Amino acid sequence: MTTSAVLPTYARADLAFEKGEGAWLVSTDGRRFLDFAAGIAVCAFGHAHPYLVKALTEQAGKVWHTSNMFRIPGQERLAQRLVDATFADYVFFTNSGAEAVECAIKTARKYHSATGNPERWRIVTFEGAFHGRTLATIAAAGQQKLVEGFGPVVEGFDHVPFGDLDALKAAITHETAGVLFEPIQGEGGINPLSDEKMRAIRELCDENGILLILDEVQCGMGRTGKLFAHEWAGVAPDIMATAKAIGGGFPLGACLATEKAAIGMTAGSHGSTYGGNPLAMAVGNAVLDLMLEPGFLDRVNAIASSLRQSLAMIVDSHPDIVEGIRGRGLMLGLKVRDGIENKRLQAAMRNAGLIGVGGGENTVRLLPPLNITEEEVAAAARLLDTACAALSAEVKADMKAAS
Ligand SMILES: *Cc1c(COP(=O)(O)O)cnc(C)c1O
Repeated sequence: MTTSAVLPTYARADLAFEKGEGAWLVSTDGRRFLDFAAGIAVCAFGHAHPYLVKALTEQAGKVWHTSNMFRIPGQERLAQRLVDATFADYVFFTNSGAEAVECAIKTARKYHSATGNPERWRIVTFEGAFHGRTLATIAAAGQQKLVEGFGPVVEGFDHVPFGDLDALKAAITHETAGVLFEPIQGEGGINPLSDEKMRAIRELCDENGILLILDEVQCGMGRTGKLFAHEWAGVAPDIMATAKAIGGGFPLGACLATEKAAIGMTAGSHGSTYGGNPLAMAVGNAVLDLMLEPGFLDRVNAIASSLRQSLAMIVDSHPDIVEGIRGRGLMLGLKVRDGIENKRLQAAMRNAGLIGVGGGENTVRLLPPLNITEEEVAAAARLLDTACAALSAEVKADMKAAS
């Protein structure tokens, strides 16, 4: 690998891309890859979608940035459209998922402070979570690998095992402001919380006068076949962070809240120089145009069930490599057999021309663009089959060499 002046915080694959077209990427050395990572659930409409390119370039010729000292018409429009489509009454725009979660945490704490309970500032979160890389969001997730070496961990987060309702109940005290979690853990390895548990947690929050805060940075914006994953359970949060797909590849995040939960977020309480600037808003509105088109989410659900069927066949024909599928909609994970590192399957997939994303619990995540076609699903299944066969041969050769 050639050296680089980029701070080496990522173990990168030695691969770079020249251009993209829909679900396909072309590398700088001319190879074609089917992109089932989509920039980690970001490129909801694949690469270089003409409608998004047009929205961005048209805005680029007008005005890029004015700051939030002024009204930003595209921001007011996108906020209103998100409010109309969700539980929320207000939206704050950010540049990333971590900032959206930060805003959610601040909003929750401020709510209790503004309503006479400043002692309620702690938030209960789930083990295995990922909420971003800022000091507060690494503390929220709490995993040792995230917080190690970065000094005193930001106070105020209590961690309980994923989906453990008894532990959650026990962790709620007179200092608790809310519960924060991902309806489907993404980085953690595609772990969905059941709809029953979602409803039970909503009730628990209501009984205790605390806020339900969801991190839908990865599972939101159409990924599971609903605009937001919590809709499957028929419950609504008080506050929600989203990002990734909301900008289709343009850096954009959002924190949504009900009027009640947002009560403390008054002028001067929070801000961002870039958040919601005209460029981001042009793309965000265009992404939402495509996502809210009648029938779009139905197509996501239909293609997701084809993909799931194809993956079930892969699991059947390569039980020595993959042992199961998890997830919902187009947020799927392949559980790789213990003893075979998920990185090896990812590499075999790359060699075959298919890109996936590693995840916790030895999974490989498949997060394709939401507008993939039946042909692309069929192509992905063929490439995955090739990759599993190649890895199977490798594993057998290793075993032979070791014996
Ligand atoms: C990616 C992710 C984040 C962080 O988003 P950034 O844009 O990298 O800051 C937070 N929460 C979840 C669930 C994510 O998947």
